[in-house]
Amino acid sequence: MNPIRYERRRYTTGQSPIEKLERLSSHLGGPAIFIKRDDQLGLTVGGNKTRKLEYLVADALRQGADTLITCGAVQSNHCRLTLAAAVREGLKCQLVLTEPADGYHPQASGNHLLFHLLGAEKIEVIPADGDMQLVMEKLAQELASKGRKAYLIPVGGSNELGSLGYMACAEEIEQQAWETGTAYDYVVTATGSGGTQAGLLAGFMARQSNTKVIGVNVSRDRAAQESKVLDLLRSTAGMVGLQGEIRAESVVCEDRYVGPGYAVPTAEMVEAVKLVAQTEGILLDPVYTGKAMAGLIGLIREGRFAKDDHILFLHTGGSPALYTVPQLFIPES
Ligand SMILES: *Cc1c(COP(=O)(O)O)cnc(C)c1O
Repeated sequence: MNPIRYERRRYTTGQSPIEKLERLSSHLGGPAIFIKRDDQLGLTVGGNKTRKLEYLVADALRQGADTLITCGAVQSNHCRLTLAAAVREGLKCQLVLTEPADGYHPQASGNHLLFHLLGAEKIEVIPADGDMQLVMEKLAQELASKGRKAYLIPVGGSNELGSLGYMACAEEIEQQAWETGTAYDYVVTATGSGGTQAGLLAGFMARQSNTKVIGVNVSRDRAAQESKVLDLLRSTAGMVGLQGEIRAESVVCEDRYVGPGYAVPTAEMVEAVKLVAQTEGILLDPVYTGKAMAGLIGLIREGRFAKDDHILFLHTGGSPALYTVPQLFIPES
């Protein structure tokens, strides 16, 4: 592979820790479970978008942008972190949000509260089926007419440049595996816009690692998610000049833990979030990592892994959304 020539900003000091989840592993009676704490990455409250933004924002700065524009759900972790990166770099940031099924509540908590606290220059809410890309382009044109320069970041930061952040993460995992003498058989992660899974796969390929990646869907069916991730894996590998054949079978997604839809709670998610809080004191989130952990627990229970496998669960962040759903976790009196 060609050396990676892409510029990178740094928002985290050192590596994110890998911890062994002794109590959770023994509770489940399956393989040894470890967790990679990407919820402790830099920028406000951390999470996986921080790694993608290291490359995306470097590109924005190189192009001379003064404003980042991105889009997502009202509780988007990606919007929160893009805004946090903008604050850190002295840039402005505008957000395009899609209206949730139960309507837009201007006083909504969680990430939405942080959009205001971190000082988004503009928050534009559009209907759920609206064209986010089109609205972002319109905002960029408005800025251009005032002599400003916007840089557009797609949903979830999932393009080839964003995926480089998770190629770098795969490299980091390989280093940590080497240092501690623990090889990981599987990485299990939530998969949504796909950049995390595609980047990890590209990074493990670049290292000729045997580590497999299982994506647990938070939306979409299996075939749709696998082809989304495969497309991004191919284009990322093409961009960095990765040698070797990309096998479609290397992209594995599980769609049995989505439930009724994106961000719609499931009983398995609630069980998983409680279990990890009460065995390990670690906070997951209701939209991504709660469903991903429900997937890991389900796969362990159905015997997908060998007892001596080492499983690395990627904690991709998202805990601010926990505070928007107290009714799921506080027993009725
Ligand atoms: C965005 C997000 C994901 C999904 O990552 P993708 O790269 O979009 O697949 C997982 N977990 C959290 C907390 C996220 O915010």
